[in-house]
Amino acid sequence: MPELPEVETWCRALDGPVSAFPIEKAGPAHVATLKTFDPPLSALEGRRLAGAERRAKRLLFPTDDGELVLLVHLMSSGRLRHLGAGERGPKMPAFRLAFQGGSQLILTEAARKKRAGVWLLTPEEAEQELAHLGPDALHIGANRLGQICAGESRRLHSLLRDQRSISGIGRAWANEILHQARLSPYALSKELEADEVERLATAIDAELTRGLALRERGANDKRTYRVHNKLGDPCYVCGTPIARVDFEEHTIYYCPECQTGGRVLKDRRLSRLLR
Ligand SMILES: [Zn+2]
Repeated sequence: MPELPEVETWCRALDGPVSAFPIEKAGPAHVATLKTFDPPLSALEGRRLAGAERRAKRLLFPTDDGELVLLVHLMSSGRLRHLGAGERGPKMPAFRLAFQGGSQLILTEAARKKRAGVWLLTPEEAEQELAHLGPDALHIGANRLGQICAGESRRLHSLLRDQRSISGIGRAWANEILHQARLSPYALSKELEADEVERLATAIDAELTRGLALRERGANDKRTYRVHNKLGDPCYVCGTPIARVDFEEHTIYYCPECQTGGRVLKDRRLSRLLR
């Protein structure tokens, strides 16, 4: 699933093009993709978008008159593309905005099960829709992070992925961040020392910034990740083969030498079933 660096990259790339021309035609939209019916999509026609914004892993496109917000959540396999005038796109996109002058914003979804969503909302409704999200992970800082960690006792990998606590991080960047911070994915948030919280805050910024820079240059997953999906590859710090363990519904990648003091983590799914 695209996370903060990926969504922020798309946000920056789309900001100019989507605001260049007023919307001529909004839709069609796949019935599973469009999550709202009032106001109708046609309410966008004739209006201009102010640009693109990001909240957590979502994209927001407010109209420049301040009356409507188009909210897009791409989930795992949705993709947004801007096509210039005359550029050919897919015949049946999940969602389309056509702009005056001929350019288009297209949402496609490769998976058979449509999970990406588009909402047309008032700014107040959009705020409500996003109210459950925790603070953005980028530049969260050690103070705020320390409060979140002290707030409840959670395994770090799980806490980092919880959008209500900290927003924008998923399983790939949680792997990268915890490795950079030299912290165990299973460490309990309440038990972190002040210097460990500091290290985690620094690692969050360092890794998300690194990811953003790479994605803006068009880097693929293989070049972007150093730990995630790298089972058996040498750790970039110490050379120990990267290990993998299943936890909740996720697979965690980590370095046993850098992160867990040489200990190999045990699969926790079985113990959870037995609880
Ligand atoms: Zn290592």
